[in-house]
Amino acid sequence: MTNPLPAGSTIGILGGGQLGRMLAMAAANLGYKAHIFEPGAAPAADVAHAWTQANYDDLDALRTFAAACDVITFEFENIPADALDVISATTPLFPDRRALETSQDRLIEKAFLRDLGLKTAPYAPVSGDILTVLETTGTPAILKTRRFGYDGKGQARIMDLSEAKSALATLQDAPAIAEGFVDFSKEISVIAARGQDGSVAAFDPGENLHKDGILDTTTVPAAIAPGLRMDAVLIASQILNALDYVGVLGVELFVTPQGLVVNEIAPRVHNSGHWTQAGCAVDQFEQHIRAVTGWPLGDGSRHANVTMENLIGDDISRAATLAAEKGVQVHLYGKAETRPGRKMAHINRVTGPA
Ligand code: AMP
Repeated sequence: MTNPLPAGSTIGILGGGQLGRMLAMAAANLGYKAHIFEPGAAPAADVAHAWTQANYDDLDALRTFAAACDVITFEFENIPADALDVISATTPLFPDRRALETSQDRLIEKAFLRDLGLKTAPYAPVSGDILTVLETTGTPAILKTRRFGYDGKGQARIMDLSEAKSALATLQDAPAIAEGFVDFSKEISVIAARGQDGSVAAFDPGENLHKDGILDTTTVPAAIAPGLRMDAVLIASQILNALDYVGVLGVELFVTPQGLVVNEIAPRVHNSGHWTQAGCAVDQFEQHIRAVTGWPLGDGSRHANVTMENLIGDDISRAATLAAEKGVQVHLYGKAETRPGRKMAHINRVTGPA
């Protein structure tokens, strides 16, 4: 086992949203300081030791930030390569560059997963005649930008070939891939961690429901066969080991009659892992901080059945009513402005013992 960073060390976090905020709180619980790097509004900065408010292309600001941190991690994956170069020159970065580069680009990500022998949707890069591209994937299909997509943004569905050209136009020439439609019965995700010593700990898979392309609820246990639960955990472990990964990773999966199909990986703590705050002795945020600071991974076994519900936009007005319910834990992100589609808070509802 490696020696953990001493108490009082500083963990740099790129990104200052709610994930950064919950990471900063977990860091504090282990005796660390958090330093947030975020150009825009930063709910994470309210609970952090320091905040560098600068753009990701401000290399001087990144250099100063990196010099002030003992280790650096991130809460979102679209970090420019130049920023990573500057940071890694002075300060350890976990997860590392390879994990980021694999997950930043849907084409590289799919090829990586296929090379591991994992199932993905049929896919092809969008180039040349879109009708030829769709011969590989079949229809219905989904066009997705290779980079910068989240919560269903940068995507266009093609139900039949007559829609192909108009769907392509909505992507405005951004590099993209086409994916064949996967006929799934459920969407699940598994959140898993790998420590600096190579040990792996996975949380139980959760079952996800989306509304308007945004995660609405995650429920554990997922109502799937025990064998599939095991498969999900093994898939996550395989990905973590292949990337020599350090930290927490989220893997989104489709349940199909042919088994699990990997949709995408997220090299960070994940919205569908928030239930661990109410369901496990050590939640995903503490697990991530443990991994990047060299602590042993903690006990992530599930002691409760939980449903996590996101409060999006005006849903936030229900927070006080929900807070009065039995078994409900409320997590508000401290965002000053409520906007439609904006994640404002989540609740974890404990529905019984595991
Ligand atoms: P993503 O941004 O890739 O997570 O996609 C957002 C949502 O679109 C997923 O949670 C699925 O509900 C749906 N989706 C994405 N890709 C596919 C696919 N190849 N087949 C069917 N549904 C998909």
